[in-house]
This record gives sequence, structure tokens and C-alpha cells, in this order.
Amino acid sequence: MSPPTSWSKTDILATVHRYWGFSELRPLQEQAIRAGLERRDSLVVMPTGGGKSLCYQVPAELARRTDIVVSPLISLMKDQVDGLRESGYPAGALYSGMPLDTVRETEAQIAAGRYRLVFVAPERLLTPRFLQLIERLQVRAFAIDEAHCISHWGHDFRPEYRQLAELKTRFPQASVHAYTATATARVRADIAEQLRLQNPAVLVGTFDRPNLIYRIVPRVDAQMQVLQALRRHPGAAAIVYCISRKDTEAMAEALQANRLRAAFYHAGMEADERRRTQDSFASEEIDVVAATVAFGMGIDRSDVRCVIHAAMPKSIEHYQQETGRAGRDGLEAECVLLYSAADVLRWESLIEKSAADASARVEVIAAARELLEHMRRFCTAVHCRHRRLSEYFGQEYSKPNCEACDLCLNEVEGLADATVTAQKILSCVARAGERFGAEHIVDVLLGANTERVRRWRHEELSTYALMKGTNRKTLINMLYQLLDDGLLERTAEERPVLRLNDASRDVLRGKRTVRLLQPKAEVQKTRFDEQSWEGVDHGLFESLRTLRRQVADERDVPAYVLFSDATLRDMARVRPGSKAALLGIRGVGERKLADLGPRFLELIATYCRAKELPLDAALGSRSRRQRVGKLNDAKETAFELFANGASVEQVTTRTGRAFGTTWGYLAEFIQNRRPEGLDPWINQKIYRSVADAVKELGTEYLQPIFERLGGKVPYEQIRLVVAHLNTRRDARYR
Ligand code: ADP
Ligand code: ZN
Repeated sequence: MSPPTSWSKTDILATVHRYWGFSELRPLQEQAIRAGLERRDSLVVMPTGGGKSLCYQVPAELARRTDIVVSPLISLMKDQVDGLRESGYPAGALYSGMPLDTVRETEAQIAAGRYRLVFVAPERLLTPRFLQLIERLQVRAFAIDEAHCISHWGHDFRPEYRQLAELKTRFPQASVHAYTATATARVRADIAEQLRLQNPAVLVGTFDRPNLIYRIVPRVDAQMQVLQALRRHPGAAAIVYCISRKDTEAMAEALQANRLRAAFYHAGMEADERRRTQDSFASEEIDVVAATVAFGMGIDRSDVRCVIHAAMPKSIEHYQQETGRAGRDGLEAECVLLYSAADVLRWESLIEKSAADASARVEVIAAARELLEHMRRFCTAVHCRHRRLSEYFGQEYSKPNCEACDLCLNEVEGLADATVTAQKILSCVARAGERFGAEHIVDVLLGANTERVRRWRHEELSTYALMKGTNRKTLINMLYQLLDDGLLERTAEERPVLRLNDASRDVLRGKRTVRLLQPKAEVQKTRFDEQSWEGVDHGLFESLRTLRRQVADERDVPAYVLFSDATLRDMARVRPGSKAALLGIRGVGERKLADLGPRFLELIATYCRAKELPLDAALGSRSRRQRVGKLNDAKETAFELFANGASVEQVTTRTGRAFGTTWGYLAEFIQNRRPEGLDPWINQKIYRSVADAVKELGTEYLQPIFERLGGKVPYEQIRLVVAHLNTRRDARYR
């Protein structure tokens, strides 16, 4: 019987549910899967965690073909194959270092057409032996993972990827599907050209990762600040990126000294040592890895809750890729970058060094400089981080407040005497004759007694020691903010000097005011902290994690390939009491139900019996247990004001919190205090229109409601009405 040649969305969803237990597709997955089924060349750009792998896994299975996946790293391939096999999906990989009999066995399976996917490294793909093997199979489609590795404009150029240009000549009948997480327009064009894609379907996903909370803070004491951030995620998986190998070792040591289960990772380690660290991270023996950029591509652990950059990475692409390893399960995660102007200098000198290398290509060096400058600006910017990232990747960002970055959460505050501070800095630049760099100007302002200061007699300047006592890093940071806002210039020479421009002169003459930011000491709780744990029994969640770890150990596979954290949280929320109920949980497919279902159901039943918790709590209905814990001050004030009918604007002004935070308070206020109506906040016509839409569409998802109302009612308002309707519904049962 020959396989069918066209497939409905139902066919696609059936496969997705059978193997992976998902009941819907993410944005662009359907189009990408269709391109694979129709064998139309494609270029799919989705952020890390966006769900690219499904896009090449599904077509091969539905069309009953053997497709080839080119992947750059062995560890990445191995984990993917392990994961697929756990789901009952036939896949294999060939890589160097495999025992010979395993190679033979795998080749036999491939030749017999038993695998849907075969993973292979680019350098192996074009060996005569492998070509012979797949030519007989008449391979119809190739998926190229991490396709940006083919472009020197990208941040991870790999020469061996260049050979992939031959694919189209050798397999003119086959389609080629490129996948990447990071691509600016230039890299995208380069990929399509190098791979000789023909009229490709270009699918570019949204780069924004709303579940990631970005924080960029000045570095004062890296180890202390890293510890502080990690304490917000006790027992959870985290990665700390450092620039040098030595830094990773020192960082890991400091973390261990603070009794964290930590290790380091860098390219200078022996291969098996590296593998061991990776494995113990995957199997949850350790929680934190302090690493260089070398760590990452092979990390598929989807429950990483925190990614910290102890220093600034050298490009936004790196930043996006590395922070992208957080929260792949869609649950909230935090990304902290400790920024210092010194990082820029360090990268600049590393680029200088590589430029001195005779084999260095001019265009690669130029690209590196440009990428670095973008990254620096990103760090010192004073606008929403989510917005900046989206815009960098050429996408619009429409939310006025992301509620998930330090700037939108109001964690930085304006310096009270910013204009005076700016005038001090600028006049120092002027007095010194616009001939010096940032470090020297700062020395003068701080009243330092350096050789240069003495040589130029700068201790005699009126600005000498004008800012004595200010923290040096804070001062440098402010100077860079002036540069970023165009209130000061820097020449592009090898030793750049600071110069004034018209804007600086306006500031000096008092014709223009300045805004400078400095971080507040304390971080805010975000809306995620509460939402994603809503109704989850923490004790049950931890027990489920332990069971997952046990099973993973028995089978010698990474824990996350069994169930993701998101799936375990849903289990701990719903507490399924039957197989049918378990199958209803996102992430539980048929194979896993049969395979793991009994053990997980048994644990849930035992746990609930011991704690006298009912089974099968309905998903979505909120737990009626009163929230315990004292409300924080701002929230308490907000609640009081809301109770008196104050508007969101009024409350925002009174509490000094971000606008988004206040909306969150209001939603909570409605849930907890159950006001009769929402008149002070929502006009009745809007309320009724949302209520009508809810009648038809339910309250599980807000997006369909938003769309039904033609996008005219903002999400915040929909959320409030839904919360209010839910309080009404609950009332009937009490
Ligand atoms: P990428 O390769 O784009 O970084 P993955 O393919 O590893 O992302 O997918 C990231 C996570 O999202 C995985 O845990 C995967 O199981 C999950 N996922 C993928 N598609 C869906 C979907 N349609 N519904 C729910 N979860 C999904
Ligand atoms: Zn923001």
C-alpha cells in the first residue's frame, strides 16, 4: 500500500498527539510541517524552544519516509534520538566514536528503511559510504539543523557546513529544509543562497519569548550577584555563562562553597570530562553549570529556570541563543546579565588579537565589531528589553509594557540629579580638551592620582575630584548612558577619545534635561511567579520530579526526555486519577501513557491519599484555598485603593509600580476580594461583549476572545472580565 499524498490538519494533530501528547500546534509549525510534506524547500526561523524539531519529525512519519537530519553536535543528536525513542518514534544516528558493531547495526536498520529520521554530522553526510547508503533509499528530504552555521555573518560559523551546498546537486529530487533560531535578514539570505534553496517557504516565527524575564544590571561583585540570582530559584536548573575558562572554574568553586550543586564546563576539558558534566546536568545530579559559550547546543534540558551572564556576551545573537536555553518548557524563567563597560574593552581586545592573525578574514572581523557594538547598546539601553530584542531581529513589538524586564518592572529608577551629574561629566570632558578616553575622564572626576593625571596636570582642573566618592562602575555606566543617548560622542580611532557635540553643549547650558538610570536594590515579583504555580501542589510536584529522575536513571536517559516540567506541573495541578485523565495532560502521548502511566498514576494516588487531596481537580478552575502569606506593601495599598474604586492610573501613581504590575494587582484583587461589579475599571459595554464571547469560547484561552473582539479590547481588560466571571461561577458552588 502506498502512503497517502495529502494530509489534513487532523492527520497532523493525530500524529503529534500520539507521539508527543500535544493537542495543538504552535505558530508556524503547521506551515513548516506542510512544507516538509509537500517537499517544498523551506527556511524556518524560530526562537530556541519554539518547537523546530517537531517540524521535521512529523512529515517523515506521516509520509512514511526516511529523512536525513544534519546536526552539528554529537551530544545534540544522541539526546534527540534518545528522546524520540522514548516516545516510540523510530530514529537513529551515525557519528564518530560509535562502536563498530553499533555502526553496522544502525546502517542495517537504515538500509532496511526502519528509521523515519537519521541524524548525521555534516562532515559525514558527504562521505562515499553514507552517500551510497542513502542513495539506495532514495531520500526525499533533508533537514539542516542550526543552519546559521553555514554563514560567516552568523555568530557560529562552521566551515564544514559549507559542503552542504552540494546537496542540491547530488540529490536534485530532494527538498532541503533549513532550521535556525538566530538569523538576522542578512544571515537568512546567506543561508538560502548557500544551500541553493529553490523558491523556499520562508517561515519566520516571533522572536519574543514572553516567558523570559530579562534583567541587565551593573556588575559590582559577580559571584555575590550570581548567588543572589540563583537564590531566587532554589533547586532549579541554571546556567552561568562566563567569558574565560578560568572564570568558569572560579565561579563553580564559589557556588560549591555556598553548597550549590554546581560544576564547570569549557572547551579546554577532556571530552569525557565534558560529557560527564553534561550528563550529570541532564540527569539532575547537578543544578548549576558555570560555562563558556562551548556549553549549550547539546543542552536540551527544558526546565532551565535561570540563565546568568556573569559578563556581557559578544553579540545579541549569542545572548539570544544562550538566554533561549531558559524556559524552553514555556514556563517562566529569568535571565540576568551582569554588565560592565570593562566587558566591551575585553571583547575589543580579543577582536584585535584575532584580527592580527594572518588568516583572519577582513569581513569576519568587521562583522564581529559590528555585533559587539549592537550588544553594548542593548545593555545600556533604557527601553524595554523584549522590545529591543524583537526589533533587532526585525520584528515589531506591540506591547507597551512587557511585564517581564527590569525596565518595565520599574526596577531601575531615574537618578534624581541626573542633569547635574551629566553636566559634571561633560564639563570634565571639555576642560580636559576633548582628547581623552572614558577611563581617564573618570579618573579625573574621582580624583585619582594616576601617572597620566600627573603628567597632564589634571589635578589642577576645576573638575578634578568633583565626583569623589562615587562608585567607579556606576560612574562609567552613566558616562556610557550619555554616549548611548547621543549626549556625548566617541571617536572611532583605535584609542577612542570623548568629544562634545551640540547636544552636550545644550546640556551644559542648561537647555536640556537628562535622564540617567540606576538599578534599585530589590527585584520585583512578576506575574509569572504566581500564575504558573497556580493550583500546583508543590509537594506532589517534587515527588513527581524524583520519580522522573529515578526512571531516567534506570534507563540511562536524560530526565527531561521522559516528561517536561510543564507536564509535571500540570499533573501536580490536576492530580489525574485514571489513564484517561492522564492522557488529557499536555505532554502525555499514547506511548508514554502505556509506558510510564502506571507508575506516575500510582504515585499520584498514594500521595493524594496520604494528604487527603481529591483526585481529578478540574484544570483551569482556581484553587479555593485562600492564598497565604502577607501581601507586600504596594499590593496592600493597591487593594485598599481598588476597594474604594480608584482607577489603575491613580493606583499606579500612588504605588509607584509599573503600569503592568498594577493591572496584575487588579486581577488579583478581583479574584480574592470578589467585587460585585467592575464598573470603576471597565465600561459596561465592553464587559458585556467579553462576557458574550466567553459564553461561546470558554475561558481557557484569552487569544480567541481577543480575536473575536477584533483586537479592540486589550488583554488586560479581557483578563479582568474573565477573572470576574470566574468568581461569579465559583460563587454558585459555595
Ligand atoms: P527548538 O528546537 O526550536 O529549540 P524544540 O523542538 O526542542 O525547540 O521544542 C521545545 C519544547 O517545546 C520541547 O519541550 C517540545 O516538546 C515542546 N513543544 C514543541 N511543540 C509543541 C507543541 N505543539 N505543543 C506543546 N509543546 C511543544
Ligand atoms: Zn519590557
